[in-house]
Amino acid sequence: MPMVILPVAAAAALVMGGCSTDAESTGAARATAAESTTAASVASPTAPASPSSSTSGVTAPATSPTAGTATCDPGATLVETTEGPYYTDGAPSRDTLSDADTVGTPLILTGTVFDAACQPVPGATIDVWQADGAGEYDNSGYNLRGVLTTDAQGRYTLTTVIPGIYPSRTEHIHIKINAPGGPVYTTQLFFPGSTANEDDRIYDEAMLITVDEDSPEQMRATFNFVLP
Ligand code: FE
Repeated sequence: MPMVILPVAAAAALVMGGCSTDAESTGAARATAAESTTAASVASPTAPASPSSSTSGVTAPATSPTAGTATCDPGATLVETTEGPYYTDGAPSRDTLSDADTVGTPLILTGTVFDAACQPVPGATIDVWQADGAGEYDNSGYNLRGVLTTDAQGRYTLTTVIPGIYPSRTEHIHIKINAPGGPVYTTQLFFPGSTANEDDRIYDEAMLITVDEDSPEQMRATFNFVLP
């Protein structure tokens, strides 16, 4: 319900995140530019007493009905990170990875995949794998694993849970992403405000999602991928 208030908190969190580093100057600059653009686009549509779909509109993009280039920063190219030990090939094609039995707070992550020229990429493949809310991977099956495909506007909607931490790792979602026929890029998404971020050697603030709503019931967030 507090859809009007939360983007402000999210924007504040982003500002705090953006201030944390000077050392990784390029990464910090990219992240700050990308996030401020996104935050601005999130804040405005929310003002006019908005979206109806807080309970059931799970598949509808929460705040960006148009996949406009306004939310694409050509300098915010995704940063590749290590695959890690838990990838399993052959995950099913689906954009809902969790169900009622999944441990963790529900998370709806939406966004658009852009190419390097900030053009939306239809048919891009996003292979997702992650731990559940307790930091556990399913290494024998495909729980919390799936392959999404972007729609005609390059958009995706991922329904999952917020991953838990596990030894040496902050909250993160693993991604392999590629445009049709293009190279596969391996990366991870991170969560702003997590105290575990600073101790995680793989963490990169350029890959922080933007949190649009964060309640005990669910988180809604966005991330726009810009392929190299
Ligand atoms: Fe992991």
